[in-house]
Amino acid sequence: MSRYLKENYQALEEYTPGEQPKDTEYIKLNTNESPFPPANEVLNVLKRQDIENLRLYSDPTMSVLKAKLANLYGVKSENIYLSNGSDDILNFAFMAYGHKGAVFPEITYGFYSVFAELHQIEYEAIPLQDDFTVNYKDYLSKNKLIVIANPNAPTGNARPLREIEEIIKSNPDSVVLIDEAYVDFGGESAYPLCEKYDNLLVVRTFSKSRCMAGARLGYAIASKGIISDLEKIKYSTNPYNINRLTATLGEATVDAEDYYKEKCQEIIKVREYTKEKLESLGFEVLPSKANFLFARHKSYDGEKLYLELKARHILVRHFSTDKIKDFNRITIGTKEQMDKMLLALCEILKGENQ
Ligand SMILES: *Cc1c(COP(=O)(O)O)cnc(C)c1O
Repeated sequence: MSRYLKENYQALEEYTPGEQPKDTEYIKLNTNESPFPPANEVLNVLKRQDIENLRLYSDPTMSVLKAKLANLYGVKSENIYLSNGSDDILNFAFMAYGHKGAVFPEITYGFYSVFAELHQIEYEAIPLQDDFTVNYKDYLSKNKLIVIANPNAPTGNARPLREIEEIIKSNPDSVVLIDEAYVDFGGESAYPLCEKYDNLLVVRTFSKSRCMAGARLGYAIASKGIISDLEKIKYSTNPYNINRLTATLGEATVDAEDYYKEKCQEIIKVREYTKEKLESLGFEVLPSKANFLFARHKSYDGEKLYLELKARHILVRHFSTDKIKDFNRITIGTKEQMDKMLLALCEILKGENQ
């Protein structure tokens, strides 16, 4: 850190992304990426790209991609905002709507507290219930920016739409942000409520269910007013926040919806298979509607398990936060990858009994 850094940034504890190691080939089950490549149509579009056009700026209105997404969800283009990954939208939302304070679960996506601190927002982190679920009643009538990941991370638990609607309804004077990074793996989306509630901001990403974490593309669905707020901030920071290549890939991705639906179904199937196998190995596995499982073993230490798997070239995510330090978050890969992981777990657990 240099002595030139503004004081309130000096104490900032930045977000720690999951490891992306380059030293060995790992079975990577630690950052909730898709094990599947983008659809063939997307790969073909990339091959046909006229690289010469990269000398030109991208379209700051993103009108083509917006229209495609609007059509897919049956909303208007004015209800869609696009950004360089959904983290960007979360950042903007804290910046724009956090001035009365923010409320989110204590165990959730680690970036929320980072954004709150970045923008010097006072926040309340509400503990989960004993079964690691969000109690929606804790979020009623707060009159502050409410941020809920649904399904939640790293637990995988999803709340029904009627509970989400109660939260939105009871906070009419503040924005309720529902982060739906994992909704395509079995959750219930809140976006149809955008028509009814102008304080609802639904945030989505192409990173997980659209197999494109490396392209950086996120979007929001909300009332026209909220979308124009986000656009205002975008035009005050970086109007070209989505590059030409990513925009084109995004368009082809929306066109290939069927492929991604099928891949999501496959992930769900492998998730349930893996859950059952883990349980038979003595793990407690939280019910998940996401592309990962959150599991702890009845007798084996969580961090030790993470390290033993890593030694066998399998990466999962361990958080040292006290309340969840017994758990590991395991991204759902292909069935073959999960079988290798399960085999490794068998070995590790057997070694312990000797
Ligand atoms: C992965 C994730 C994001 C970030 O997605 P990007 O679009 O890749 O920035 C946002 N929210 C949650 C809960 C996530 O798990």
